[in-house]
Amino acid sequence: MIPKEYLVNSFMQLTSDGIVIVDVNGTVLEVNRKFEELHGWTRDEVIGQVLPMTPDQDKEDVFRLYRSLINGEQSKNFEALKLRKDGSTFYANVAVSPLIDNEGTVIGFIGVERDISEKKKAEAELLEREQQFKRLIKLNPEPIVLHKDGIIQFMNDAGCLLLSSLLEEEFKGKSIYEFLCPSDKPLVIKRLRQVKRSDNYTDFLEIKMKKLDGTFIDVEVSSIYVHKNLGFPVVQTVIRDLSERKKSEETIIRSEKLSLIGQLAAGIAHDIRNPLTSLKGFLRLLMAKNVDYVDVMMEELEHINYVVNEFMSLAKPQTNDFNASSSRELIKSVISFLQPHAHLYNVQIQLDMEPNIPSINCNPDQMKQVLINVVKNAIESMPSGGAIKIVFLNDRDQSLIIRIADEGIGIAEESLSQLGEPFFTTKTNGTGLGLMVCKRIIEGHGGTLSIHSQINQGTTVEITLPYRR
Ligand code: ADP
Ligand code: MG
Repeated sequence: MIPKEYLVNSFMQLTSDGIVIVDVNGTVLEVNRKFEELHGWTRDEVIGQVLPMTPDQDKEDVFRLYRSLINGEQSKNFEALKLRKDGSTFYANVAVSPLIDNEGTVIGFIGVERDISEKKKAEAELLEREQQFKRLIKLNPEPIVLHKDGIIQFMNDAGCLLLSSLLEEEFKGKSIYEFLCPSDKPLVIKRLRQVKRSDNYTDFLEIKMKKLDGTFIDVEVSSIYVHKNLGFPVVQTVIRDLSERKKSEETIIRSEKLSLIGQLAAGIAHDIRNPLTSLKGFLRLLMAKNVDYVDVMMEELEHINYVVNEFMSLAKPQTNDFNASSSRELIKSVISFLQPHAHLYNVQIQLDMEPNIPSINCNPDQMKQVLINVVKNAIESMPSGGAIKIVFLNDRDQSLIIRIADEGIGIAEESLSQLGEPFFTTKTNGTGLGLMVCKRIIEGHGGTLSIHSQINQGTTVEITLPYRR
């Protein structure tokens, strides 16, 4: 039989933890070699001292712990800062258990200390790395979201902005599926399963995301599984806003459609003009015979002829030819072109032109298109009739001001800022392209187009065009 005391001693000296035995007052009774090593004191230096290894500010806590152990609590495990002889400190994992005699009285305590400074340092480094990683992502101009098991851990600034919020808190802890179109969910789940199996970004996937205001936006997303940069593995998803791209795709489609209609119109107009010519010829013959109503028919035919000609000039392929054009002729032709439309709405068009307005250097087809758009909008704003005042002013021989004012329904203040954006329309069969095109054309002529409006009072569109550029 090996003596018990020898066994205990061997254990004390061989274990890789520091061991200290104190009495109920904290006076050191025994320490092992590892304790000497950890703290830098020799055994003789600490025997008889009261808690030399505990920093002063922590001593009170230790005595409280002793009291609870005396009162029958089980041993305690905790992390604490420990003192070395040279005054420096280290982090230790400490287990304290009561020493109990044969009668069951607590006569002291055994403390077992394990140095965890390295672990602490690694933890701190990880935290620092994690923060650095988050900082990098936070300020990344691309929207990025970090999520784990479908729960959002972090949304960067660009991401918050994209989903119309300024606060990261509105996303953290919520499910990513709250911000997706429900029909995309199965696809996304499938994608996320693939993400974990690869070290790379997935291909971009087009989905619809739901903003905080409930509206949807088109985006494409790509994800990667990140397990090194944070304390825990996450999926990092990069979001790309596709709304602009979608819009311009639609613009292209629409303008293609419009130009197609334009081309067809040219063909149709041509087909109408030929029979018109022969009708006119025969009418002239009838006129010679003094048949009733022929002059009325002739007038009507002239008008059809005029409209068809206008139609053709609009449909003509756009040239970039600028030439000196008479503004009087431009607006006259626009007004007679729109006269039938105005009749339909019971709208009178009044024209007031200052004398001596110089001719303007412009692309006449484009300028007509602008005036038609604006006057047509004015007509359509007065479903129960009214008057449109068109004024041409000469601004100090520098530029021409055209004001087109209606007495229509006006435009709500919140819509004013959207005017000129493609596809903003309040009409069931509107395109919402008119004003956008007008603005572009006028800017192409070095001028400006501005709109003033009051709801139910009317709208005034003011175009300024420099005579010379
Ligand atoms: P569309 O005429 O096809 O709707 P526009 O770009 O010409 O497209 O006009 C966009 C929208 O601006 C119209 O739908 C209408 O709501 C508003 N708007 C434009 N002009 C006027 C006006 N004179 N009075 C009232 N609303 C107008
Ligand atoms: Mg319009």
